[in-house]
Amino acid sequence: MPQLLDGKTALILGVANKWSLAYAIAQAFRREGAKVILTFQGERLKQTVEELGAEVGAAQIFECDVTKPEDLARLAELGRLDVVVHSIAFANREDLSRPFVETSRDGFLLAQEVSVYSLLSVARATAPLMTDGGAIMTLTYLGSTRVLTNYNVMGVAKAGLEAAVRYLASELGEKKIRVNAISAGPVKTASARGIKDFSKILELVSSKAPLRRNTDPAEVADMAVFLASDLGRGVTGDVLFVDSGFHIMGL
Ligand code: NAP
Repeated sequence: MPQLLDGKTALILGVANKWSLAYAIAQAFRREGAKVILTFQGERLKQTVEELGAEVGAAQIFECDVTKPEDLARLAELGRLDVVVHSIAFANREDLSRPFVETSRDGFLLAQEVSVYSLLSVARATAPLMTDGGAIMTLTYLGSTRVLTNYNVMGVAKAGLEAAVRYLASELGEKKIRVNAISAGPVKTASARGIKDFSKILELVSSKAPLRRNTDPAEVADMAVFLASDLGRGVTGDVLFVDSGFHIMGL
């Protein structure tokens, strides 16, 4: 049986542990025959990500902190790429619990740098490696367009991220590079645990979403497979929801 990502090489940024959405995406990409390269942030995660990389059969694993120019420069030295997954975000924990109006300038800029600007830096470093076109994708959340309690500074970052997806898609389209965002429903990961009262969000979503359940990371990963594969060849600049349909609900 031919696999959907046969012959494709994918760079995946943002595996921290086995709960990371990026890890589910790496597993699905391998299942579909892709060669996978993983990055991790900082020595602290080296051993865990190396173990996960071995489990999933990653071809290469290296450190990349997206705020460090020398690490970003390393991306540009990779060989030919077909797919890049940007699954990275960060905000200070206190900015995800105190009133939004109290967000510090430093906290605001940090969230923008790691969660938004990094998509541009990564695209700039890797687009030249996509010599036969490709797919860049990032992960976003409904807090970009709706006010979700405590999401605060990260909601503004996700709004910026989705706008960045559109501008990048418009520029890179002529190189046959598609740029999209997957808007995932809430999933209990390390990042999500930083959001105050996250378990209440999970309860609410599973009771109100059309499918009456929370999002399985494997569902997000299958959307990533679609975008990475030729099946997604006509889709760019878009935000695709994998959230049990929660985003359509009003009262
Ligand atoms: P996660 O496992 O904590 O992944 C976030 C990743 O970002 C971690 O690997 C983290 O590394 C990395 N990161 C943070 N700062 C970085 C930096 N300076 N350089 C490189 N990497 C950095 O959580 P996740 O939920 O899978 O998050 C992945 C993406 O999905 C994020 O964009 C998130 O906003 C988005 N998303 C998540 C949900 C959800 O409910 N979980 C829903 C919608 C969208 P460290 O652990 O070392 O900081």
